[in-house]
Amino acid sequence: MKRARVIFENRQCMAVERDGMLEIDGGPTVGEAAVEWLPPIVAKTIAAVGLNYRDHAEELSFKPPEQPLIFLKTSGALTGHRCCTHRPSGVKMMHFECELAVVIGRDAKRVKREHAYDYVRGYTVANDYAVRDYLENYYRPNLRAKNRAASTPIGPWLVDRDDIPDPHRLNLATSVNGMRVQDGNTKDMIFDVPYLIAYVSDFMTLAAGDVILTGTPKGVVDCKAGDEVVTEIEHIGKLHNTIVNADQDRNGRKE
Ligand code: MG
Repeated sequence: MKRARVIFENRQCMAVERDGMLEIDGGPTVGEAAVEWLPPIVAKTIAAVGLNYRDHAEELSFKPPEQPLIFLKTSGALTGHRCCTHRPSGVKMMHFECELAVVIGRDAKRVKREHAYDYVRGYTVANDYAVRDYLENYYRPNLRAKNRAASTPIGPWLVDRDDIPDPHRLNLATSVNGMRVQDGNTKDMIFDVPYLIAYVSDFMTLAAGDVILTGTPKGVVDCKAGDEVVTEIEHIGKLHNTIVNADQDRNGRKE
């Protein structure tokens, strides 16, 4: 099943997908433009893996890592489907990163690889935008680049784990203004989902709703204000986002 959190008629609701529409709290069925989309989960911890695809590491002139490179985001970095993300003033390079997001289903502490999927609630799509101007070297502190308010669209749907038999056989793609600019497949992750759950839960506890962003394949293209960016993972969803200038609100109006 595909589930979403939305605002409908001024109240927060849960919705499930029915034939491309949203069934709101078991009641009315509406089109996707009738709601405001929220991130499909409430996460306390968002652990993001950098350089988890060899071709992406190489395009940035880094050696593929020998251990996962993990950084954290706070929940304020997330925003929903069809929302806007700011491009900071004066930066030279801001690029999308289409990523499989793994949603944790229950407390995960020192989980063994062979039990890792027992801790997965489901999957969604994330766009882990990077402002490359603020990422200067391999050992970078990346808070300013990666934890910006509403800089990580996520959704639209949380797809149940059992609906995705193999999360390492999924095509990922990104389009900017309708033009395909990134193609990849989750089979090319350096560190797979069970490895990442075992690795992270070895030293920190993950809770229900927490998220692991699993990295992005090759495809680094600068995006400008006004660009419509669609990150997509087969069987999981198609996530829309619009980039706006730093002084514009989510509807593109001057703040
Ligand atoms: Mg990323």
